[in-house]
Amino acid sequence: MNRGAQHHGILHVHPARARCNRRPSLVVNARRLRAAGLFLMLPALMCGCRRSSESVETSDAERGPANVLLISLDTTRADHLGCYGHPKVKTPNLDRLAAEGVRFVECVSPAPITLPSHASLLAGVYPFVHGARDNSVFRLPEAQETLAEAMKQAGYTTVAEVAAEVLDRQFGLAQGFDAYTDTRGGGSRVHERSGAEVAARAAARLKGLKDRPFFLFLHFYDPHLPYKPPEPHASAYPGEPYLGEIAAVDAYVGRVLDALDELGLAERTLVVLTADHGEGLGQHDEPSGAGAGSAER
Ligand SMILES: [Zn+2]
Repeated sequence: MNRGAQHHGILHVHPARARCNRRPSLVVNARRLRAAGLFLMLPALMCGCRRSSESVETSDAERGPANVLLISLDTTRADHLGCYGHPKVKTPNLDRLAAEGVRFVECVSPAPITLPSHASLLAGVYPFVHGARDNSVFRLPEAQETLAEAMKQAGYTTVAEVAAEVLDRQFGLAQGFDAYTDTRGGGSRVHERSGAEVAARAAARLKGLKDRPFFLFLHFYDPHLPYKPPEPHASAYPGEPYLGEIAAVDAYVGRVLDALDELGLAERTLVVLTADHGEGLGQHDEPSGAGAGSAER
C-alpha cells in the first residue's frame, strides 16, 4: 500500500454511473446524505439503485422520497472484493452493485475500530469530535446529531439491525432509530449475530416498510475474527477463511437486494454500502485483526 497516497474523504468517483444516479430525486438524497457526513472516510464504498425490468415511468413527485438502505460490512478490505480487483474471491452481488452504481476508489476510515468508525459514519465527524474513541468504554453522546435523527426528522421510518455487541444500543448509536435490533434483541445476549440472521430480519423488515419512506441500516459482522465461513464458502476457499467470510457476506447482501427487487422497492431505494474499516491480514506486523494502521482502508 502506498500510504503516501492516502487521502481523507472522497477522491475519485468511478466514471461509470448508473442511470438511476442521474435521476433527480436520488441525486438530491445523495447530497443530503453527504451533507450529513455519510460519505466520510470509508474503506470501501459503493452506492446506487437498480431499475427493475418491469419499471413503470412515474415522476419523482409521484414516487415520493427515495428510501435509503445503508449497509456496513465490518472488517472488509476493499482489495479483497471482486469489484476492487481481487483475483480470486467471488462477490457477484457487491460487484453488481458497484457496476450499476458509483464505486469510490479511495476512501479512508476515521478509525480501524468498530464503534468509533460507525459513530463517525452516523454522526459525520471524527472520533475526537464525537467522543466514541474506542469500543466498549465510550459511547456516542446524545448531543451528537446522527443521520438517523436527521432522517427521522425528514419523515423517514428509521430501522437498524446490527450484528456485534460493540454496537449495542448502550453505546449510543440507537439514537434516532424507531427500531434498533442489537445482539440482545433476540431475547438472549450473543457476541455476534450471523449475517444470515441479519439478512432474514432485513427482508422481513422491508415487507413492513415498503409503503413508507424508510432508512434501513444493516451491519454485517461476519468478516471479523474468528473466521468461520459457512458452507459452501468454507470449502470454496480452503486455507483462506477470510475470503470465505467475504463471499458469505456477499451472499447475505444479495438476499437483501433480492428482497428489494421482490417487493418492488429496488428502483426507489438508494443503496449505500461501505466497510467500517479493513483488516490487517499480517501487514504492519499485525497477524490479524483490524486494530492498527494497516487496516484503515
Ligand atoms: Zn469493525
